[in-house]
Amino acid sequence: QEDERESMYLVSEFASKYFQNTLLKTEQGKAIGLSYFRERGFTDETIKKFQLGYCLDEWDAFTSEALRKGYKLEFLEKTGLSIVKGEKQFDRFKGRVMFPIHSMSGRVLGFGGRILTNDKKAAKYLNSPESEIYHKSKVLYGIFYAKQAIAKEDNCYLVEGYTDVIQMHQSGIENVVSSSGTALTSEQIRLISRLTKNITVLFDGDAAGMRASIRGIDLILEQGMNVKVCVFPDGEDPDSFARKNSQADLQEYLLENAKDFIEFKASLLFEDAKNDPVKRANLIQDMVSSISKIPNQIQQEVYIQECSRIMDISENVLFSTLSQILAREG
Ligand code: ATP
Ligand code: MN
Ligand code: MN
Ligand code: MN
Repeated sequence: QEDERESMYLVSEFASKYFQNTLLKTEQGKAIGLSYFRERGFTDETIKKFQLGYCLDEWDAFTSEALRKGYKLEFLEKTGLSIVKGEKQFDRFKGRVMFPIHSMSGRVLGFGGRILTNDKKAAKYLNSPESEIYHKSKVLYGIFYAKQAIAKEDNCYLVEGYTDVIQMHQSGIENVVSSSGTALTSEQIRLISRLTKNITVLFDGDAAGMRASIRGIDLILEQGMNVKVCVFPDGEDPDSFARKNSQADLQEYLLENAKDFIEFKASLLFEDAKNDPVKRANLIQDMVSSISKIPNQIQQEVYIQECSRIMDISENVLFSTLSQILAREG
């Protein structure tokens, strides 16, 4: 069992090096993969730091090379790097640029691969399948590169995608990780909580990002952690925003727009229907529901006070609503 996992780690490490070499040293890699990353504004230093790569647009270039080097087909299949069909083998990530996903200690667990064409039928990102070494609900992209900065800053920025993590690093913000390719899980939050109790959510400025932020808040509060949310302008994500703005402007934007979860939820309303009593009532109910997830009673009380002040409603009614929710959930 241990041997099997070790073999899977080794073949993943080999794949990461092979894909990076393909990106930097082959004609196709340079012409297609490297120029793609450069067009996205990634420097060569960044590309090397994150061990970005490219998988040739051929059926089995990687798999054949791995077999030639003595890696066993069994582990190529178990890591999902190769797909076996009868007598034939194929590269899962054919023609994609590659983002290796590392563990907290820096081992390669799996990959995300991005398609380069605008083919709407194919998935934009393809991830390694679940395996004995890659459990996507327990992994955070970028954690290996971010862990020191997270502890030092005592805060962790949480973004949606690979490129958001990478572009923010390039803009000098290194305490950033992504739940890439999965809805945020409590296991991922617990990984962060080993390093800091403070999370700032930076999801995409679109409807999906907004929904994910709202969902993330309760999950983070449940873990006894503090959560802020920073909303990006419509249509922007941290990657696109960081590219359009200077380092200083990005820093300033984050500081000015990161709101605690009560303020964030309130801002949703003020845009929407300040004077609609039904919507206002629903929002207050929703805020108290989030507060009920907080395990610490002092923090609960502090947020009840804030909710009361911002929404202009008595603390008494908020406290009795909180008690009702807590009683119902037993
Ligand atoms: P890019 O800037 O390269 O277009 P992105 O990170 O902005 O990528 P989003 O569409 O915002 O992409 O999605 C956020 C994250 O969700 C991605 O980084 C990826 O991890 C995951 N994801 C997106 N589309 C897919 C997909 N079709 N299949 C699996 N995961 C996906
Ligand atoms: Mn998005
Ligand atoms: Mn995005
Ligand atoms: Mn993007």
